Amino acid sequence: MAIRKIAQIGHPVLRQVARDISREELITPETQQLVDDLVETMRDADGAGLAAIQIYEPIRLCAIEVRDNPRYPYKPKIPLTILVNPVLTPVGDERFDNNEGCLSVPNLRGVVQRYVHLRVQAWDRLGNPIDEVVHGLKAGTYQHEVDHLDGKIFVDRADPMTFSTWTEFERHHKAAFVEQVQQLVARVGS
Ligand code: ZN
Repeated sequence: MAIRKIAQIGHPVLRQVARDISREELITPETQQLVDDLVETMRDADGAGLAAIQIYEPIRLCAIEVRDNPRYPYKPKIPLTILVNPVLTPVGDERFDNNEGCLSVPNLRGVVQRYVHLRVQAWDRLGNPIDEVVHGLKAGTYQHEVDHLDGKIFVDRADPMTFSTWTEFERHHKAAFVEQVQQLVARVGS
């Protein structure tokens, strides 16, 4: 396994639309190695998710995981999930304000409107089908990662008036956001 370099905003790869991947390509040793590297890179950087395009591999594949995360201590846990060729479909039109950061955007956070309930259809890393409905912060994380596969970054969707450095988020916005998150989790789970 290897820790890869993470592309930073301004690098053109982050604006590419990633391509679908076939089952045959998915199960090759090269792609399985890429998945291992993606997970290791995400964990090393304390990310809650990482898309392959962020490590310069423009294929439709991303990793999501929340353990005890110092970047996002308020996030409910998410077991390691690999999504291949994911398709997201909102369930209902309810949205919530999600305060997001990104490993490709240094020292910036902002508020993005995300769907509260989301159907996720994808493959896992072995090509087995995934079809589930996710909610709340977990749904927000899925939307953030799948945006990367379409060349989108959270700053495209955020209200610029909400932009904040990580330090100013801690000082001025975290308490209110955590309270809002706790209410959301109590209502819809994760
Ligand atoms: Zn990101």
